[in-house]
Amino acid sequence: MEQSAAETPQNTFSCQLCGLSTSFTYYGQKPPNTRAVVLLEECFVAKDPFSPDKEKFLVLGSTCSLCSMCVCVGPDCSLFYTKRFCIECVNKHLDQFPQQIQAELAKKKQSSKPGVS
Ligand SMILES: [Zn+2]
Ligand SMILES: [Zn+2]
Repeated sequence: MEQSAAETPQNTFSCQLCGLSTSFTYYGQKPPNTRAVVLLEECFVAKDPFSPDKEKFLVLGSTCSLCSMCVCVGPDCSLFYTKRFCIECVNKHLDQFPQQIQAELAKKKQSSKPGVS
């Protein structure tokens, strides 16, 4: 068992649903070097490469609180409702989410249909 020091990109976050893969700089609830921000959940964070503001950062994704799957924050992949849920768990337990969430998801489904004109 030899751990070669090959350049294994260990800090890579990849969404297990949409396949988005990108490097992250921090995982947790309080990204360093930011304005005392505490996130609502432990998540994968990367510095915003497009912002000159060093304190700006992007939340890439998090792990589903139910199945521990890594999912990005895209609305097609996960939902945050007190905790992070992957969309698969959301669909599985949809009846346990409040009406408001269910309605929003239903709306989203309709509007995200490929627009054929
Ligand atoms: Zn995704
Ligand atoms: Zn899940």
